[in-house]
Amino acid sequence: MKRYFIAKITGILAREIIDSRGEPTVEVDLSLENGGRGLAQVESGASIGSYEAHDIRDGDMSRLKGKGVLRVVESINHVLAPELLNMEFPDQKIFDQFLIGLDGTPNLERYGANGILGLSIAFAQAVADQNKIPLYQIFGQGRRMPIPMFTIFNGGKLASFSTDVQEFNVLIKDAPSFAESLRAGAEIYHSVGQILDEQGLNKKIGDEGGYAVPGATTDQGMELIVEGAKRAGYSEGRIGIVIDEAANSLYTDQRRYHLLHHQQEDVESDYLIRKFESLKERFPLMGVEDGLADQDWEGWIELTKRLGDKIMIIGDDIFSTNAVRLTKGKESGVANAVMIKPSQIGTITGAIEATKTANDQNYTPVLSQRSGDTESAYLTHLAVGLGFPYVKFGAPARGERTVKYNELLRIEEGLNQVLENSH
Ligand code: PGA
Ligand code: ZN
Repeated sequence: MKRYFIAKITGILAREIIDSRGEPTVEVDLSLENGGRGLAQVESGASIGSYEAHDIRDGDMSRLKGKGVLRVVESINHVLAPELLNMEFPDQKIFDQFLIGLDGTPNLERYGANGILGLSIAFAQAVADQNKIPLYQIFGQGRRMPIPMFTIFNGGKLASFSTDVQEFNVLIKDAPSFAESLRAGAEIYHSVGQILDEQGLNKKIGDEGGYAVPGATTDQGMELIVEGAKRAGYSEGRIGIVIDEAANSLYTDQRRYHLLHHQQEDVESDYLIRKFESLKERFPLMGVEDGLADQDWEGWIELTKRLGDKIMIIGDDIFSTNAVRLTKGKESGVANAVMIKPSQIGTITGAIEATKTANDQNYTPVLSQRSGDTESAYLTHLAVGLGFPYVKFGAPARGERTVKYNELLRIEEGLNQVLENSH
């Protein structure tokens, strides 16, 4: 990684704020001696995998349903800040490693991944600010605009289980620019909304801005997206659909899956694999995320065998942005793509390492938001800096989503200017 001039840390102040779900989360304000400043908000999930770094909550049921983060804020302000103030760090990796060392536990249980990540992001932002460069340059020289996967429907834990599938995302395969992708995403989102109105279907909104249609089948979700895309002028051949089954939410102790809709008895992994095969035959399915639960390693091997040469088999909870788990996955033949979520691993450096591991082992990395997100756009810079081929930031609507898509428009504009000036 390129080195930038980094002054010593002169100020750190954490506070509790609320996220897009109205749940508490951590914000960290960090300043450097010659004026560089970072202000980081930490995203957090609702469908949390078994292997994620530890997210600390107060557990005080008398406020905010026990989800307060005052203990994390207290640790940052009164334990970590005194260790960091007046220190100088040569780069992000050394800063992050210092934080991990202070915590001293494998899963960041002492200070919380939510606290450590806030510091990690704020540090990166402060360094970019101090050096007067766009944040993405701190993360790498990738400089590729990613293809966005837009959430059209939400279900599962993100929408009171309106559908078994947690997300139906759509992407445009041949958009000439990010701006054109965004335009298409918004057009398709609106067309689908219009069809729901016409059919008298419920048009609630899930946590990531996708429509939530209670009781809709997976087939119906797929059909509505294909139909909406056509109506907006995008033929079936131009789109790809990626579903997040988020199968952890359906998994039972008996190594079975409990589908809420249209299936009386719990099913085995083979039922779901056959379902995905059938979807692939009938729809422009490009990927399945968390098709099976993170405890069902054998099932994942079978899923990858059966569909791995046809579509992206994306591991979210099963890898939890952990480079070691990802390597294990490659050795066993589990998945061929991976969701990267900094909040699952707790530092920017951890997310960068997982992304590099994915690239090295030929797994497609997809950078993702969390369902409880914030008005921060730092993820977009991580995507461009590291050259992610795909991002998943939710629907092309709602502030915590649009802040990212609109930032990507600005970044694309900036990159185009650089190209023009170099000619
Ligand atoms: P989460 O959901 O942010 O609640 O984990 C998103 C996902 O599973 O991809
Ligand atoms: Zn997921």
